[in-house]
Amino acid sequence: MHFYILTLFPDMIRQIMQTSIIGRAVNSRILTFDAVNIRDYTADKHKKVDDYPYGGGAGMVMQAQPVYDAWLTVMQKIRQAGGTCARTVYLTPQAPVFTQKMAKAFAKEQHLILLCGHYEGIDERVLEEIVTDYVSIGDYVLTGGELPAMVLADAVARMVPGVLTNEQSGSTESLEGNLLEYPQYSRPEEWNGKKVPPVLLSGNHANVDAWRREQSVRRTAERRPDLLLQAALTEKERELYL
Ligand code: SAM
Repeated sequence: MHFYILTLFPDMIRQIMQTSIIGRAVNSRILTFDAVNIRDYTADKHKKVDDYPYGGGAGMVMQAQPVYDAWLTVMQKIRQAGGTCARTVYLTPQAPVFTQKMAKAFAKEQHLILLCGHYEGIDERVLEEIVTDYVSIGDYVLTGGELPAMVLADAVARMVPGVLTNEQSGSTESLEGNLLEYPQYSRPEEWNGKKVPPVLLSGNHANVDAWRREQSVRRTAERRPDLLLQAALTEKERELYL
């Protein structure tokens, strides 16, 4: 999968895309990315990319021309690589909130364009021309779209086959089947007077699975009862936790 991230701050993107699990996937070319500097596409001789908002008000607005030209160049690259179309995602607080379900859907794409706003946002006219999906990462306002784009790219990348070395870990994590994951423990067996639950040391896989399932349902009931309503539960679990 190839990510194209349109941004005024490409260094922020490069730093994150080259770190940890995502960095390894990039090194082995399971994932590839271009951090495209929108400023490189401005027609303004002073390299300006923003201007005052019509109608007045605070802040500056990113102008349509550099964003559009950066996007056109990316679309040409995608066509040259044999792609026919690509979804263009604008990260904005004015949108439905990102979910694991969306991450899975985006992970099926061959190319994904992520557009990061800054200042007061981007001229509406170019958004109307190029954006296919509007996505927020939560009900708060950040300074720019770079962190949201990296949140999205990270969650999507984990769903791309081969990115996680152990395929299982993607399918047992929180939010799969609308349940949160069970608690995890590692060495030592006792820390600060607290012992690892004995069942995890028993070597009995059926008991371990049953314990984990119970913990997972219980934890979801305590922390995210809204999710539990959409989970597939047994009759007994329904009686106990709903
Ligand atoms: N004036 C805009 C508004 O009220 O909707 C907010 C602009 S914000 C300061 C600058 C940029 O950060 C946005 O264009 C968007 O790309 C990004 N951004 C801020 N909060 C975000 C969020 N919760 N989710 C996704 N992107 C966000």
